[in-house]
This record gives sequence, structure tokens and C-alpha cells, in this order.
Amino acid sequence: MSQVTLKHVHKVYEGGVHAVKDFNLDIKDKEFIVFVGPSGCGKSTTLRMIAGLEEITAGQLFIDNILVNDKESKDRDIAMVFQSYALYPHMTVYQNMAFGLKLRKFPSEDIDQRVKRAAEILEISDLLTRKPKALSGGQRQRVALGRAIVREPSVFLLDEPLSNLDAKLRVQMRTEITKLHNRLATTFIYVTHDQTEAMTMGTRIVVMKDGLIQQVDTPITLFENPTNLFVATFLGSPQMNILKAKLVLEGNKLVALLNGDEKKAIVFPDQKKRQLASKDYINKEVYLGIRPEHLELSEEGISAEIDVVEQLGDESLIYVKPKGIDKIIIIKAKASERYKHKQKIAIKFDASKIHLFDLENEASIIGFPHENRFQAKARNNTLVFGKNEWVLSSKLLDRAVQKTFEESMVVAFKPEDVLVKKADNCYKIHAKVDFIDEKSDYIACFAKVEGLSNYLVYRLKKEDKKVPTNEEAVTLYIPEDKVILYQNNERLLLKEKIYPNEAKCQIKLKGEKMIITLGNQKLILPKQENISEGEHTLRIKQEGVKVLFNKKIRKKYKFEKVRYPKNSLLKVSAYDEDKTGEKNALFVKINGFEQYVTLIVENNFTVYDMPVFKISLDLDAIEIL
Ligand code: ADP
Ligand code: MG
Repeated sequence: MSQVTLKHVHKVYEGGVHAVKDFNLDIKDKEFIVFVGPSGCGKSTTLRMIAGLEEITAGQLFIDNILVNDKESKDRDIAMVFQSYALYPHMTVYQNMAFGLKLRKFPSEDIDQRVKRAAEILEISDLLTRKPKALSGGQRQRVALGRAIVREPSVFLLDEPLSNLDAKLRVQMRTEITKLHNRLATTFIYVTHDQTEAMTMGTRIVVMKDGLIQQVDTPITLFENPTNLFVATFLGSPQMNILKAKLVLEGNKLVALLNGDEKKAIVFPDQKKRQLASKDYINKEVYLGIRPEHLELSEEGISAEIDVVEQLGDESLIYVKPKGIDKIIIIKAKASERYKHKQKIAIKFDASKIHLFDLENEASIIGFPHENRFQAKARNNTLVFGKNEWVLSSKLLDRAVQKTFEESMVVAFKPEDVLVKKADNCYKIHAKVDFIDEKSDYIACFAKVEGLSNYLVYRLKKEDKKVPTNEEAVTLYIPEDKVILYQNNERLLLKEKIYPNEAKCQIKLKGEKMIITLGNQKLILPKQENISEGEHTLRIKQEGVKVLFNKKIRKKYKFEKVRYPKNSLLKVSAYDEDKTGEKNALFVKINGFEQYVTLIVENNFTVYDMPVFKISLDLDAIEIL
């Protein structure tokens, strides 16, 4: 067993680089998971935090359900292989592989067995007496892997292990590592910036950009159903073609008009039309994406002229200029067909394979949605949408940033969080399946909920025997902790439960003042009536607390300098934050409080720029019980 779980993991380097932001991932036992993304997106940092080589700024890391944030690297049962695998030049292959075990004082028979077994797995048994300089690049890389294998770790971490090899060897070692994973049957976490490596090796891929996870899924699903323009264009070679287009209705048909002078329409199949996220996109401009393999050169379609033809063995890449569009489109075609420079031709789009993206936020707007969203009404503590009535439980309200809701709100949940079997602490929805869209990896169910206009979308596994038929009535279950609420685009529920901000304190009275001792800190505030000396409970209100900003933050966000009474200040250290829109929920540690204290502030700043700071508490911000 070797599961790795990351919960809200952040990394902020000294100097303020926020390298990894709110990283959440469940890595299953024996998975081959790949982190991919452009250079600097935080892949190595994440891997190094898992390895224990880099401190975790905020969040939690579990290995086999045990919190290991504070466990030293050597106690984590993992082994890491780096891009620059320095072998000891004066030692033989055998000695290089045995070295780590010797340091750990393994008995020599045990070492001998492990080294020989690893050498067999890697097919380097005949090289054990050689020194590194007598090895090829690929052989050296195997020895580096061998050093990790002999440790028999439950998790392997590999950081761009092939990037020093030449192209041919890289392809070969790719297969070798995949085979190694099958043979060892342990969890692999593999970092690469190379999308081909990611697509060919991973059972699941984590696509990252700017420290943020963009999407996590199997290679085929990422390819078929990218959640945004970045994922769509980062994966796949050559890249997906992106053009601007206008969506319009022609009679009953949804069509896309390219900006060219011809105004030829691309007509979507009916099922595709039904997958458009919102009718608001009709008569609007969007990004239209199509992969080179889903375009064809033919007699009919968008007029174009061939620019360049590139032969690649049995296929060729044709670069064409569509008429009136200032952009080159790439088409993958069979090499047997002959095309030449300046040839006039037409491009045919496979409209069932078209991707559409919002022009502003670049999110995918057709196909499998990222989130199911429904307009709802809140009455007392009941949420009504369509024919559904959900009583908001205290467990759910524990995450709410405010206790009263406006009447109109949006209830949301992710397709992957919808369950088809009854489970504890779930909300129920009755729906009717409208149509099924079979993807390579899963089955997407588009269901209608009575009284609602948009679809409820969920996923079924391929191996699930019970695929519903069209029009079948289904009961679906949404776990309480997966429910998201929005009001005016602001998220109302935090990821974490909010604890009552309460702690025991000692109060002494002195003239018109009261001295409140909390942990190792003191507050001196004007005396309140009916407060006696002795032990009390201090409650800090979530809202109404003022933050003392340091110079760096004031400069960065152009905040005014504000003075607070010195005796009203309390030192806090940030644990995490959760931005809900305009507001920012800060989870802080204060000496004396057992749980995290949650402060909700209007200011838009990040605690990662200011991990330790002071807050000002006046009588309006606290209650003494
Ligand atoms: P990747 O492996 O995806 O290329 P890294 O995890 O190495 O990215 O880096 C992520 C970001 O963190 C980059 O902006 C990088 O400059 C920064 N960074 C990495 N290591 C350090 C460090 N030790 N100190 C400060 N910043 C760092
Ligand atoms: Mg790196």
C-alpha cells in the first residue's frame, strides 16, 4: 500500500515566490502519475515537498493516511531519481547501487541480494563490475534507477530522469520505465515538461501552470476533454488549432462562423449542440479549437491555400492558409496523398470533435462541464432548485462564511463528485437521463432535472454494467462536503470547516482597563461592564478584525498606513487562506487557541506574502463570555 495525498498544499519560497498554490491530489496505490507543465510551473517543488527535501509552507501531506509534513525525508519510505544522476566515478556499478544501503547499515547478504535483483530487473547484470565511465548514457541512467530500486521504496519519485539523454534513447528509456513500473508494482510520481512523455507514460496526468493544477485525468480524457485553452494547447502534437469564431443559430442548427470572408458555416451535430454550456454564447465570439487529426482536405469546406507540406513517414503535416483568416492551420493527412505549395483546397472540419472556449476566462464551454451549476433559492435553511429541496445541514453550514443567505444563489458540484449509489451524508437528486456520450475512458451522462433548464452531468466508469438508457429515471447522490454555493459569483462555502474562534483567557481589572491574558500575549482594552476578574472565554469575531499590514504588502496592494492602539494587537501566524471572491478567509494560529482561528477580511492580499503578522482587536471584534 502506498497512497499519497496532498491537501491544500502551498509552497512559498523565501523572497515570496508562491511556487505551488492549493495543490490537492489523491494518488492511488500503484499509480503512475505524471506532473507536466512548462518550466517553472512548480512540478519539482511539489515533488521535493513529497520527498521531504522542501518544507511545506501550508497544507497537509499524507503517505498511507499518515501525516508526514514533519517527517524527515529518510523516514518517508520513498526514493527519488533526479535529472542529474551523479554516479560515483571511482565506484563500480555494484558499489554505486550498494552505497545507499551500506550507509543505512544493511547486512551485506541482504545488500547483495537486492543489488542482484535490481540488476536483473534493469538487465544490467553483466555491467556490475564496470565503472561509470565505461557505460553509455542509457546504462548510467539505469544504474541511477537501480540505486532507487534497491531501497525497495513504496513510492518512486522521478524528476525529469530522461532529459539528459538523446532523443532516441529517451524514447527507449520511456518504455523501460513503464515496464519497470509494471514489474515493481509500486506508486510512481514522474515529473516532466515533455507532453509526449506525459501522454505515453502516465496512468493519470496532472497538468500544471503557474503553480496551479489545471486538470487531472487520464491521458485520453485530457486529450478529448480539456478543461481550458491551456490544457487543450499544451497536450497534443502538433498543437490544437485555435481560431476565433462566432456561434449562431441557423434554423434549428448550431453553427460556427469563422472570421474569413467566405462566411462558410460549420454545422454542429445535434448532440454536440445540446452540450453547449449556456445559450448565452449564441451570437457571441468564442475560441474554436480543432486538432490537426480532425481536419481533412477535401473539395468542400472552408477555402484555403496550401503553404508548406511536411512529410513524416506515413503521415504528413499540411500547413494551410484559410481564405481571409490571418492564421496558419495545421492538418494531419495520409502521406500517400500528394499536395503541393500554393495548391487551392478546402478544409473540412469534423464538427463532432470541435472544442469551444470562452474568450475571456478561456474555460471550455462545450462537452463535459467542469462544474454543474444550478440557480437556487434559499428559504430559511432550505435550498430549493427545480423540484429539489435540500435542508442545509449544520455540517455544511460549518463551512459558510456568512450565516444568512440572500434568497437567490447558485448551487454547484463537480461531475466527478456525483454518486450513483446511496452513501452517507449526501443530498439526493432525481433526474432523467437525456443522452449518453461515450468517451474513450468513461461514459458521460447528461441528465435533466425536473424544473431545471440546464443539464446535470455525471460520469460513469466504462466497466459499470448499469449504463442508463435514454429517458431512464435515476437517483443521484451529492456528498455534503462537495457542495459549493455561490452568491453574485462569490463562493460562500470555504474548503475547511470554520471552528468557533474561542479560547480560555484570564482577565484582570485595573482602573478603567481590563488586561486579557491569552497564551503568552496580553490585550489591554477599556473595561466592559459586568466582567469579573478570573477565567473567561474569549471569542474573536470572524468579521470586524483589522489586519496590520507590513510595508511590503502596503506597497504591493497600495493600502493606506493605519495605526492601531498598541495594546490591542495580537500576533498571529497564517496557516492558510481561502479566497471566496471579494473576501479572503484567513486561517491563523494564535497562541492559546486550540483550533485555527478564521478571520474574514475584505482586503485582497495573500498571507503567503506575510506569514506572520498582527491583528487589532477592539471591543467590537471580540466577545467575552
Ligand atoms: P518546475 O520544476 O515546474 O520547472 P520549480 O518547482 O523548479 O518548477 O519552480 C517553481 C517556481 O519556484 C519557479 O518560479 C522557480 O523560480 C521558483 N523556485 C524554485 N526553487 C526555488 C528556491 N529554492 N528559492 C526560490 N524560488 C525557487
Ligand atoms: Mg523542475
